Amino acid sequence: MKMILEDLLRGKHRVALGGHVRPDGDCIGSCMGLYLYLKDQYPAVETDVYLETVPEAYRMIRGTDEVRNEADQDDAYDLFICLDCGDAERLGFSKVLFEQAEETACIDHHISNGAFADHNYIVPDASSTSELIFTLLDEEKISRSAAEALYMGIAHDTGVFQYSCTSPETMEIAAKLMRKGIDHSRIIDKTYYEKTYIQNQILGRALLESMMIMDKRCIVSVIRQRSLEFFQAKPADLEGIVSQLRQTKGVEVAIFLHEVSPQKFKVSLRSRDRVDVSEIARYFGGGGHVRAAGVTMEGTSYDVINNITARIALQFKKFEEQDEEE
Ligand code: AMP
Ligand code: MN
Ligand code: MN
Repeated sequence: MKMILEDLLRGKHRVALGGHVRPDGDCIGSCMGLYLYLKDQYPAVETDVYLETVPEAYRMIRGTDEVRNEADQDDAYDLFICLDCGDAERLGFSKVLFEQAEETACIDHHISNGAFADHNYIVPDASSTSELIFTLLDEEKISRSAAEALYMGIAHDTGVFQYSCTSPETMEIAAKLMRKGIDHSRIIDKTYYEKTYIQNQILGRALLESMMIMDKRCIVSVIRQRSLEFFQAKPADLEGIVSQLRQTKGVEVAIFLHEVSPQKFKVSLRSRDRVDVSEIARYFGGGGHVRAAGVTMEGTSYDVINNITARIALQFKKFEEQDEEE
């Protein structure tokens, strides 16, 4: 059921917003879009936004300099709104504020979301949390700055209006945001396409060392800590690598492993047409969407790849059986 912002905020004096760890474009866009709207429209409500360090490229969004990176362990807000986050664990450092808040709400589009707050607005078919936020706001009252944030979020989670999650409604909402006078080309160029030299170098390394496996239906690449150190890259510099891998002709699934500590990998999965990668991520304790999901796994990179490919093989087998029946 659709959430009514007015009802949610009634009687609340202090509200906190929070998104998932390693915030991406949609997480930052939805948090900042709602934050800027609440600041404008509900000035009597004290609103704070909690996110891990906002990567440099996103700093063009207004208000990102007000984002809090640390939580006061004893602070109890009247309401905590969790955005673009499939489970409370993924809030990271702000989870404590979620737990201590008088009331909680969750606005999200992850298929793996278990509706863990008091009030939940979860639409797995929505392109992005930023698109969902738009549907909760009074269009007339959306400022240009808030529109910039939401447009950025939608553009990121749709791969600039390309992925299958992009619906006619998505485009209609993007058009309405565009009419707020935003510099839409600049937002996409600066936050999505522009890469630092270091980011391009590490991408090059990941592509060069990638391998085609499972009859060339999957591509896999691993970036180790020592490579990050060599290129002086940060984990945030790895965003976009898995999408580039997925673009390889003939590939159905792209698997990207980033070594976060010895024998521990952050795994990103992307599929093209058929494989449900959210099912695979969930099986190993992660989550996400049908075509884009993630999970953290332990073991050697070979163990991790073997475990994942075994699950992909099960899906391939199922598709073959289905195709034979037809
Ligand atoms: P990523 O590969 O990190 O870009 O993530 C792809 C999608 O899966 C995003 O929507 C993430 O929010 C989600 N996701 C990534 N890692 C996890 C995880 N460990 N648990 C749950 N969801 C995740
Ligand atoms: Mn996200
Ligand atoms: Mn999202």
